[in-house]
Formats: sequence, C-alpha cells, structure tokens
Amino acid sequence: MKKYIQPIRFLIQIGFMAGLVLPFLPIADNVGQKIWISILFVGVFFCGWICPFGSLQDWIGWIAKKIHLPRFKLPVKYQQSVQLLRYFLYGLSTMNIVFYFLNSRFFFSHSVMVGLWDWINGSVMVAFLAASLFTDRPFCNYFCVKGASLGVWSVLRPFGIARDENKCIHCHLCDKVCPMNIPVESTNFVRHPNCINCMQCVSNCPKDCIKFKLMTLKKEIINDTNLFNIK
Ligand code: SF4
Ligand code: SF4
Ligand code: SF4
Repeated sequence: MKKYIQPIRFLIQIGFMAGLVLPFLPIADNVGQKIWISILFVGVFFCGWICPFGSLQDWIGWIAKKIHLPRFKLPVKYQQSVQLLRYFLYGLSTMNIVFYFLNSRFFFSHSVMVGLWDWINGSVMVAFLAASLFTDRPFCNYFCVKGASLGVWSVLRPFGIARDENKCIHCHLCDKVCPMNIPVESTNFVRHPNCINCMQCVSNCPKDCIKFKLMTLKKEIINDTNLFNIK
C-alpha cells in the first residue's frame, strides 16, 4: 500500500496544478478554504497534496535529485530557529505592520505600493523556485505566511504521523527524506506545525514503523517527552 502513496500524491498535485488553467478541475484556494477546519484534526494536507506552489518546489527538487545537483539541508538546530521567520512574518501580517510602516514612512501612493509588492512578490517566488534546485521546499520552510497560518492550527491534531519505537531501527531515513526537516526519528507522534503531511517518512521507512493514524493517548502523548518535536 505505501508504495502507492507518493504516486497518488503526485497525481493529486498535478490535478490541482492543472486546476489553475482548466475550469472543470478544482482550484487549490477554493478547496483550501473549504477544508481548513480539517486541519484541526488531520493536519495540513493542503500543503503536502494540494498547494501548486508547494508542488512546484517538490517537482523542481525531484528533477534536481535526478540530475544529481548538490542538495543542502540546514542542521536541525539551526533550521528550527530559521523556520521561526515564517511565524514572525505571519505575526507581522496579522498586524499589517510592514505595509503600514512603509506606507507611513515613505508616503508611497497605494498604487505604487501595490506595484512594488507585486514586483517583490514575483522576484521572491522566482528566487525560491531556483533555490528549490538545491534544498527542499525553501519557501515552505522559511517564508510562507499561509503555511504558517495553517500549521499553527494543526499542533494538537489527534490524527498524524506516529512512529512505532519497538520496530524502529534508528536508521534516520525518515529525518533525511522529510522536506520540512522535522526530526521524526526522535518523536513518537509528529505534532510539528511545519509538517505538511507529505507522507515521505511513511513511504520511505524500511521497517514500516511510521503510520498516519489516530493518536493513542497512552503511548504517544504520555510517553512522548518531545511533545512538539523540538530537538
Ligand atoms: S507552505 Fe505555503 S507555499 Fe508551501 S505548500 Fe503550504 S501554502 Fe503552499
Ligand atoms: S525510517 Fe523508520 S526505521 Fe528508520 S529511523 Fe525512521 S522510523 Fe525508524
Ligand atoms: S514528518 Fe513526514 S509527513 Fe510530515 S513533513 Fe516530514 S516527511 Fe512529510
């Protein structure tokens, strides 16, 4: 069964990407708005399976691996600090501070501001797509405010990625394949707000000891001292 997970995910990603141009296919944002309540229970499937910009970064990364470009990963302890950037940006965006500051400080007209933001947005997107050639999902990891706004709702989800310590051989493959650099091997139940439910850890575990399932109170909550997967 697990060998079908990634091909199915790929087909769904393709479907939503095609939805950007084909009117009879679903559009990611519409679906995202309808299913956001599910994030409270099952986590952020939107990011791992639906979001076209997340998909683009996955595919560029996949091509880069196929042509053997060098790949970089920040050590987890630094990554977790840098990842806070997107939550910081999310905080700013909820207060609209950046826009207000620039507007009041430089007295730009609204149309100039909007044009400037469009230009900055476009350049930032292209830069992050280029960076995907060398590291997994850079925009999702460090910059995406939308991903942060979804992730914060998912941290107490009852369904998620559970690891069976009894079967685990501590090969760390799950850590290696996780595009969001979450230390899966050192936790029993992933609650990290950055988890995008891509199921790469489930698909690649050689001992089948990672499953997406309902948390069992006794095992995963009481015994898990690393509650939010911070190393
Ligand atoms: S983090 Fe942002 S860009 Fe990445 S998949 Fe989620 S919504 Fe899309
Ligand atoms: S990939 Fe599986 S066996 Fe290897 S460390 Fe992760 S959970 Fe354990
Ligand atoms: S923990 Fe597993 S499901 Fe979550 S982002 Fe990492 S690889 Fe994907």
